[in-house]
Amino acid sequence: MKQPIQKILIANRAEIAARIIKTCKKRGIQTVGLFTAGEENLPHVLEADEIVLLEGEELSDTYLNAAKIIEIAKQLNCDAIHPGYGFLSENATFARAVSDAALIFIGPTADVIDLMGDKKRARDVAEKAGVPLVPGFSPAQFSTSQALEKAHELGFPVLIKATAGGGGKGMRIVHEPKEFENGLRQAAAEAKAAFGHDEVLVEKYLVEPRHIEVQVIGDAHGNVLHLLERDCSVQRRHQKVVEESPAFGLSEDAKEVLFSTAIALCKEVGYINAGTIEFIMDKDQKVFFLEMNTRLQVEHPVSELVTGLDLVSLQIDVAEGKALRLDQNAIKARGHALELRLYAEDPQHNFLPTSGKLTHFYFPAWPNVRIDTGYAEGEEVTNRFDPMIAKLIFYGMDRNDCLNLAAAYIDHLSVSGFPTNIHLLKRIVEDEAFRSQAATTHFLAERTDLFEWATVTEEEQMALIAATVFFKSGSSQKFSSQAENETVTPAFNSSWQKTAIGGFRNV
Ligand code: ADP
Repeated sequence: MKQPIQKILIANRAEIAARIIKTCKKRGIQTVGLFTAGEENLPHVLEADEIVLLEGEELSDTYLNAAKIIEIAKQLNCDAIHPGYGFLSENATFARAVSDAALIFIGPTADVIDLMGDKKRARDVAEKAGVPLVPGFSPAQFSTSQALEKAHELGFPVLIKATAGGGGKGMRIVHEPKEFENGLRQAAAEAKAAFGHDEVLVEKYLVEPRHIEVQVIGDAHGNVLHLLERDCSVQRRHQKVVEESPAFGLSEDAKEVLFSTAIALCKEVGYINAGTIEFIMDKDQKVFFLEMNTRLQVEHPVSELVTGLDLVSLQIDVAEGKALRLDQNAIKARGHALELRLYAEDPQHNFLPTSGKLTHFYFPAWPNVRIDTGYAEGEEVTNRFDPMIAKLIFYGMDRNDCLNLAAAYIDHLSVSGFPTNIHLLKRIVEDEAFRSQAATTHFLAERTDLFEWATVTEEEQMALIAATVFFKSGSSQKFSSQAENETVTPAFNSSWQKTAIGGFRNV
């Protein structure tokens, strides 16, 4: 039996580090936070019980410095390391080194990370567990002409993917047979450059799919539960923007396939920890396995809100060796949850990353709204890290209720200092088509009208003014204006109007 975990080092930063600390505080677990120069005042640094500065500019010196991170955990007598997501979270060598140092890695075993990190091996084991696969093949075992013949059998377009790929990188769509040979060569070269392996897979490219995934958690006693599904179809260049649970209009048959095969796959590999099985779904709600992410996912809060469970706490339970004592039949979706990712990027300029000081960063406390962020007003957002600066998470009785809440809330928050995607988020939740039918993964690519507007509409100006009146009259929270000692002037001050909600003016 493992000891109860008393102290955790969080090998991550910002939003996810702050999120993990919240659960640790709730459970009375001590935390060690990491930070780099310039991050001294980020919430996760202020909230951790102990903090350690990682010196250096490069990620390999800081958040990817596995040896250093393990050494800190040992020196500070931690019992466990939580990797969060990104960085070292799916690095089997790190997971192995953590265990070798007699620390608990809050995640699956290194062997399972290795297995699932390879798209080809993951496909093979998924097939063995009876999970439906996107039709496809591994071209390495064929000559070029045989591979072309197989691609013809799949039918064009096909998708070539790096087996070691992740985060939407290393994928290439081939529309015509004549582009195939060249596509294979280029995809292999790109895969080699990005991931160190040139192995690729060829899959049928589903034309208008939805991205549906299943949250799972497994323990060391062979128990595996699913925490229902999430719909993450609203993506841009394979980067998720909106996630929700439950998925819009999903049939009972589709759910049955999703949940039963997700659990079968976890049992097949002896999965321990929280994880996500990703699927794509066609128009007829046929689902196909995409991949498994062997870690906590960015969008886990929507599953937490509809099930009432704390996924980080469950991760700690299973890492301690406890058995999951939950009844699958009791895990039901109550209401609807939606997550909007607020990015430091400029939708009007090809979504280029933006950066700068968050001159205003204010989120009023509303019932049924959860804000997960690793930043605070006055803090600097740089391009050194992921552009996501906050997750706006909403809970409602049903989908409409949730979307109405999100649309109203966006009018009352404040983010400025540099352009963000806040207006795009507002337009998505208000969009008639988004509200009335399920979005496909092409939603944003097809709906450029949602972000390519010439200027801010009158309605948005009015919303801005209303927001300012609200802040002035209702809030007791600290709300600084751009200059330190400048007081917030009345609502109709024009310079204030420009900055109250960021995203469309670089101020
Ligand atoms: P990564 O590991 O890089 O995230 P995935 O295999 O999970 O790659 O795919 C990322 C996204 O690419 C999916 O969410 C989906 O939108 C799209 N995609 C992947 N495979 C296919 C396919 N065969 N057909 C259509 N779209 C696909």
